[in-house]
Amino acid sequence: MAARSRRHLARTLLTAVNGTTGAGLLLALVTGARIRRGRDGVLIAEGYRRRIPPATCFTVGSVIITRRTAEWLLADERSALLDHETRHAGQYAVLGPLFWPAYWVLCGWSYALTGSYGSRNFFERHAGLHTGGYPELPLRPWAARFTRSAATASRSRPDGTPSPH
Ligand SMILES: [Zn+2]
Repeated sequence: MAARSRRHLARTLLTAVNGTTGAGLLLALVTGARIRRGRDGVLIAEGYRRRIPPATCFTVGSVIITRRTAEWLLADERSALLDHETRHAGQYAVLGPLFWPAYWVLCGWSYALTGSYGSRNFFERHAGLHTGGYPELPLRPWAARFTRSAATASRSRPDGTPSPH
């Protein structure tokens, strides 16, 4: 088996065992979204109609839930978006249910620093900011001032002092 398909299988198994794919399937069932086969071991729940979250696609375990159809998401033009959501499935494989609190904490952190939930959110950066439709925003003035003064402080270290890399 190629390394790529082994990775997909590991992701599918881990998200099944840690319960996050079950949560995604349950959410699809409760909201009336239709489960379809996706790609690389990821399922697509199409026709999601609730207002929250407002995104076109979001991922729970190995289930990508979308307001559009599975065909729409599987089209070649959307391969970057599919890849972005599939990376979130990989994050669920690693963190399990801890993904949710960790994700929301980083949304808050990113919002405080930039005014965007994604810009400084590790999970969105790792999945790909642009493919997820997030802007790369500059830090808010206070945060920029803070990191500038932290940088100045570390530069003013005397020569020969070991500094962390
Ligand atoms: Zn994302």
